[in-house]
This record gives sequence, C-alpha cells and structure tokens, in this order.
Amino acid sequence: MQVAKVILDIQSNQFSNPLEFAILPGKSSQVEFESSKNYEAEVGCVCVVPFGKQFKLGFIVDIVSETEISRPTNSLKSIACVVSESFFDKDSYEFAKFIANKYLCAMATALRLFVPSGSMPRLKHVGNKWIATSHKFRITDKNYTEKYISKNFAEKDWEKFQLTKGQQVSLDAIASSIDSNLNNAFVLDGVTGSGKTEVYLRAIAKVLDIDKTAIVLVPEISLTPQIVSRFSARFGSKIAVLHSKMTPAERFNQFHRIKNGEIKLVIGARSALFCPLKNIGLIVIDEEHENSYKQDNNPRYHTRTCAEWLSTTNNALLILGSATPSMESLYKCETEKNWRLLELPERTNGKPLPQIEVVDMGMEFKSGSKNLFSYHLRKNILKELSEGNKVLLFHNRRGFSNYMFCRNCGYTPTCSNCSTTMTYHRSHSGASTSQELKCHHCGLKEQVPVKCPECGSPYIARYGAGTQNVEDSLKALLFENDLKQVSVIRMDADTTKNVGGHQKCLDEFSKSGPAVLLGTQMIAKGLDFDEVTLVGIVLVDTNLSLPDFRSSERTFNMILQVAGRAGRGEKPGKVIVQTYTPDSEAVELATIYDKKTFLSIESQKRGLLHFPPYYQLANIISSSPDEDAAMQYSNEIQQLLENNINERINIMPSTSCVIEKLRNQYRYHIVLKAPLNFNLSKFIEESLKPLKKTTKVKVTIDIDPINLL
Ligand code: ADP
Ligand code: ZN
Ligand code: ZN
Repeated sequence: MQVAKVILDIQSNQFSNPLEFAILPGKSSQVEFESSKNYEAEVGCVCVVPFGKQFKLGFIVDIVSETEISRPTNSLKSIACVVSESFFDKDSYEFAKFIANKYLCAMATALRLFVPSGSMPRLKHVGNKWIATSHKFRITDKNYTEKYISKNFAEKDWEKFQLTKGQQVSLDAIASSIDSNLNNAFVLDGVTGSGKTEVYLRAIAKVLDIDKTAIVLVPEISLTPQIVSRFSARFGSKIAVLHSKMTPAERFNQFHRIKNGEIKLVIGARSALFCPLKNIGLIVIDEEHENSYKQDNNPRYHTRTCAEWLSTTNNALLILGSATPSMESLYKCETEKNWRLLELPERTNGKPLPQIEVVDMGMEFKSGSKNLFSYHLRKNILKELSEGNKVLLFHNRRGFSNYMFCRNCGYTPTCSNCSTTMTYHRSHSGASTSQELKCHHCGLKEQVPVKCPECGSPYIARYGAGTQNVEDSLKALLFENDLKQVSVIRMDADTTKNVGGHQKCLDEFSKSGPAVLLGTQMIAKGLDFDEVTLVGIVLVDTNLSLPDFRSSERTFNMILQVAGRAGRGEKPGKVIVQTYTPDSEAVELATIYDKKTFLSIESQKRGLLHFPPYYQLANIISSSPDEDAAMQYSNEIQQLLENNINERINIMPSTSCVIEKLRNQYRYHIVLKAPLNFNLSKFIEESLKPLKKTTKVKVTIDIDPINLL
C-alpha cells in the first residue's frame, strides 16, 4: 500500500507538517468530485482528506510505501479523492519549505505559490455531502505569448554588433561559469543604455545551447511588449510570458506548456520563479534594485533571496542587472566567494550620459513663478519640440506627486483614518469638473480646501502635481506657443489598465515627429527610444516622502534611472530635475553621477545604525481597531522576544508605526536587528511560540522589510 504525505490547505503555521494518509482505490462516499477527470495521486496534486469530522483540501508532498512509515497502517485514514493535476514536484516542496521557514508563513501559503492562480480546486459542504470542484480550463495550442509582442518592433541588426569591452568581459566571465558548471552570482552594474539586455540575451543563448533553461524576471510594470519582443526575436516560440494581467485560463495554459517541456525560456514578473520549469541553468533579475521584488502580502518573500536559493539548488547562474544595483547585492560581491561584480560603464552608442541640471523650485516660487514647470524646463521643452524631438516628463509618485501641499507653510492634508497623506483627484463628467481629496488606503473622500487651514495661503489646491495636472499645464504651455499639434501621451495606471494599453501609448509615442510622453517613472521602465533628447522630472523630493532608511537610496536611484531614458540615440540628451531639496546628498550626487561617493556616505550611515546591507531586519507589526489592544499585544511580543534575547540581537522598543493608523487599524511595531549570519526567522518563531492567539490583533511579521513605515 502507498501512503501520501499531505499538507493541509490551512493558512496556519500549526499545520506545517505533513499528515499521512493511505492511497486506496475507490472514493469516499461522503465526498463528491464534480469533474469527469480522474487524477492519479502524485506529488503536487491537491486532494481531499478527512480532518476530524470534516474534510479539507490538502497538497500531496510525498508518496512513500507503507513500510517507510512508523505507525501501524490500519490506523491510517485514506485520501477521499484527488482533485487536481500535479502542480509541483519534490524540489518545489523544498523551495516552499525554505520560504515558509524564512518568511514565517504557513506551508499551505508557500505551496499555493506553485498553483497557477485561478486553478486551485474548491471544497464546499452541502447537506451531508462534501463537494469538490475543479477549474474548467482546457489545454489549447494557442500561443499566448504572441499577444505580448509588439508588431511595430524590429530589432536592431544585432548580428553585426561589436560588443563593447564591458559586455565582452562580462560575457567571458559568464561563459566560463557556464562551461565549468559553477553556481555563480553576477551583479551586472551597467549604466542605462550600456547593453545589459544584450548580455542577458547572449548568456541565455549559451545556456539554451547546452540544453538547459532560463528564467528572466522583470518588474511587473516593465513587462512591456518592447522587452518581450526583443527576447522573442531571438528565441522564437520557446518563450512563455507570465504576466499578472493574464486570465486564469491563459496562465493555466502557459503552466502546462512549461511543465511539458515545450518552453525553454520564461519571462515574467516575480511569481514566474514558481513556474514548473525544469533543468534551470540561468536566472536573470533585471532592475534588481526594484522594491516590487518584495511581495507586500503574505508570503512576504523577496524575489532576489528566492532566486538565489533556486539557482543554488539547481547549480545555476544568477545574473542581477541594474544601473543602480541594491546595496545588498553590491555588499555580497564584496563578501561572498561566488558573487562577482561586472561593470558596464559606457553606453553602447559611445555617447556620454546625459547632463543633469537642477532647478530649485523654492527659489522659483519665491521669485514669483507659480507654474508647475520652471522657466528653465519650459524653455527646454519648447526648444526640443520645435526642433522635432521627443520629450519625457516624469513625476515621482512616492514623493508628493498629487498630494496637496501648501507652498507657503508646507501643510499637507492627511487622512483621519490612516494618518497618510490624502491625494488630490479631479474628474470630468460632461462639461462639469469636480475635485476631491481621496485616501488611497481606505478610500475616505473629503472636500478640497480653498486655502491652507494652517496659514490661510491660497496656494494650496493649485499644487497637485498629479499626472492630470502636469498634462493640463503642459497642454496650456503648448497652446500658448503654437505647438498644440504636438501629441501628448499620458501613461499612468488608468491608461495602461488593460492588456495592450501600455503598448498603445508606446506606439503612439514612437510615431515620427515631436511628442511628449508623460507618466510616473515606474511606468517608463526600460523605455528605449532613440529620439528622446529631454527628460524632465517635475518634482523630486525627499522632504515630504515618509521617513525611511532607504528613502535617500530611492531618490538617488530614481534620478539615475529616469535620466537613463535620454540621449540613447545619436542626439545628446539632457535631464532637468526640479526639486525643493537641491542640497540633499541624493540629489546633489545623482546629478554628477557620483555613485561611489553616494554609496560610501550611505554605507557609513547604514553601518552605524545597524541597517542593511550590514545587518538584517525584521519588522513585527501589531494592528487593531482598538489602539490599546494593539499597543498591549505589541508589548507582550516584545516581552517574549526579550525573554529569549542574546548579545547578537538588538530589539528596538515597541512604538507606534510612522503610519500610525491604516484603514482604521492602529499600528504598533517592533524592529529587530541582527548580524547577517544569525537565523532571525527561527529566533522570532521560537520566541513567539508562547504568544496567545487573539482575534482582536493582527500580527504581521516582515522579514527583510523594504521599509519600516
Ligand atoms: P540596457 O539594458 O543596459 O539599458 P540595452 O541592452 O537596452 O541597454 O541596449 C541599449 C541599446 O543598444 C539597444 O537598442 C541594443 O540593441 C543596443 N546595443 C546593445 N549592445 C550593443 C553593442 N555592443 N553595440 C551597439 N548597440 C548595442
Ligand atoms: Zn499653509
Ligand atoms: Zn485612509
């Protein structure tokens, strides 16, 4: 008789060890499976098992023979029925264990990462029966990747490329790792336009040549047809794209094409790490510094950490590319034997990086200008457009974009439920326009004040530099200067909501002639347009963004990333940065591309304060609608942690979070700091074992948090 080890599909750490069930022919009379399919029990299948007087879904994680288990087989209950195909194998189970241990989530939560979304069976109790339902997707032979390929795209004649010196040196190092089958990690630190993608492409070609496979991860937002097209131009139909905008049926199909071995290269957002690709030889993480690589809900995994685990267990290569690599990755190159830094200091077009100019918006305001665009930026926009060039305009969403702000005293309206800044919105319906303040966390709406409630200045509502506002100001500028025929393309969450929306914007922008593309820096990732000669950053500010240990690094990176979109072709590029904090280190050093000095100053601070990359952090947040309950529970947690304390770990006292209140939940937190070789997850897990569960307070444990807000 065979015995299945099953992890119950219950989102609780209590059920993280597998239970044993006999695999017997025939089905339980109490459970009905609403499907004509007949699944064999295999590792990775979802099954229905008895649990007390009930039934539950579970994941089969191992199958052994009865001789291998310690208990008498006649005490075993048996699986009621198997209700899905296999979603993962034993290696993936090990991967899930790593995630559950590191990020302190339930095993079921980690295993669900491997189930294509929308494909998980369901179980319901009806009368005295349990009914299991399965997804209804069918395997088709449709190519779901085609849709993500731009028809307007023609790759430059790459056969004739003479690799730059940096590219050649990098590829030599990568090739020799592949040849000697070493598990190395490379940080590819290449300025924007230095040909990092070309390095990925050739490294992938080499890996596919020896019959291995590859995964390329890009931030969700930059999964554009432009990027996908470049890969498909080289590797044709062996590619699968995994995108969060895909329907469950599409995902299911991609899943099967990968599982069958049809696919050799997967391009996707972070969740592509959990696809059933076998024989992985290379994992690439593009724009590896991006915050979106950390999942911000359970399981709160970091893509970089998981990719490192996966490449190590597959004895595969890891390439982390960025123009602004994270301090964590750079530090690993200094401290770990198999990590190596590769640099591409020059652009492939042989041109210098664009010149960055700073405009002090405080001075502009004092000198009487109330415009969103400084005189200098206006002059340059008009000049480039009238010469037939293209312009990109960005504004920093994380800064104060469409937040209201009194230009006289600095007052900003905040949400009374969440203590976060309210955002300004305007909507047009027919001829009428209405405006309101909205909280992006809880949805609270309020009227827009006409003057500052603090100081009475009227310059408050007029300063909402949201995309709409920038668009209006821009159109006015073009109109006044007889340039109203210039097309203005706005790219934001609204205009790119649907599949293809992104592409439509880019196609529009790439039509010949002068044009302005307007958007947040997030949406413009990876844009590669030769004719862009001017990039304007409407507002970069460090003051108003919430205090966090990474905010300076973020500002610095943002300026360099955005600047990288200018001057990629023959004509030189220029960047104009508008800011209220022209003297901040991040702004000053970014404008002269002085990464070394910036990193050394920032490193010193991080070291002194025991922050990453030198120390690891954990953030334990207690939240509750009842402030006292949240505070008390957080204190209890602190007590338990302190009972276990040793000299290697540093426990900050429990305090209210910077965002004290979110969606009407009061928030208290405890930050832990420990050396990198300390098992912080285990320490927390062990310490909190005696913690009494309560429904009143929600506890979130964030290992390696990307912010402490
Ligand atoms: P990055 O990813 O570093 O921003 P890309 O890989 O997108 O840079 O390269 C920028 C442009 O230069 C692309 O259009 C690419 O086709 C081209 N390119 C890449 N390598 C070379 C080379 N060695 N010589 C000329 N052009 C190149
Ligand atoms: Zn004011
Ligand atoms: Zn709110």
